Amino acid sequence: MKTRNFKEELLYAREHKYAVGAFNIFNYLSARAVIRAASALDLPVILQTSVTTVKKFGPNELGTMLRQLAWNAPVNVIIHLDHCTNVEIAKACIDSGWDSIMFDGSRLPLNENIAGCREVVSYAHRRGIMVEGELGKIGGVEDDIVVDAADATGADLDEAVYFARESGIDAFAPAIGTAHGVYKGTPHIDYKLVEELSKAIDTPLVVHGGTGLSDETFQRLISLGAAKINVSTAIKHAYIDSCQEYMAKNPDKLDPIDFDQFMNCSIKDTAMRHMSVFTANKI
Ligand SMILES: [Zn+2]
Repeated sequence: MKTRNFKEELLYAREHKYAVGAFNIFNYLSARAVIRAASALDLPVILQTSVTTVKKFGPNELGTMLRQLAWNAPVNVIIHLDHCTNVEIAKACIDSGWDSIMFDGSRLPLNENIAGCREVVSYAHRRGIMVEGELGKIGGVEDDIVVDAADATGADLDEAVYFARESGIDAFAPAIGTAHGVYKGTPHIDYKLVEELSKAIDTPLVVHGGTGLSDETFQRLISLGAAKINVSTAIKHAYIDSCQEYMAKNPDKLDPIDFDQFMNCSIKDTAMRHMSVFTANKI
């Protein structure tokens, strides 16, 4: 099922005071579980793949599998590539069924980041595909991108406005103090930057590092204009923790369908919990 494209879905969410959940999936089971969560709540959803997952399956095999799942879903399922630093991999995913691509040039000098985004945007837009860009450095570990807490840098407002306008991106992930992985202590989030950016540019804003933020934090960010929230670590935990729990509870059971179903429920519940928070004040 396809209704709105990536950008339209985010603009619609912002207008209606909610955020679209973007969940990192890594195989058929996790993709299906997230789609089931979205279907149960009748909400659009973004399935994100890391570059590592793309390399593991190959873009053609992964794209075909995800497109098939999206096609059969009763809700809008958008297939998105997360944190891609390589223009050739971005292009391969654009050609293999992805709806949107995040080009992560945040480690590059500003003008090179803009040039990288523009190259991906130019290739993507001609094919009806959307692009997300990042500015500043989001702390933590995501795929093979590691940013120490000391190196995490928030985006600067003027630079962020310039970047959003010059890069031509469809969604913008400014570093605002959230981090990938598990939070140690309370994150210091730059709400003022989110608020000022929302007023200054039309590009919908994306929050990375959604795992572990409080419901109040999510709702405050959404009220200030965040339209897409990324959740990766919580999905990985739901998968691995439920796998360990099942094995501990059923050491002698030889029933792979029951085993898959148990993990499916865990991922579905985790995704539903997040989506419920992201849409709590939906109008
Ligand atoms: Zn991220």
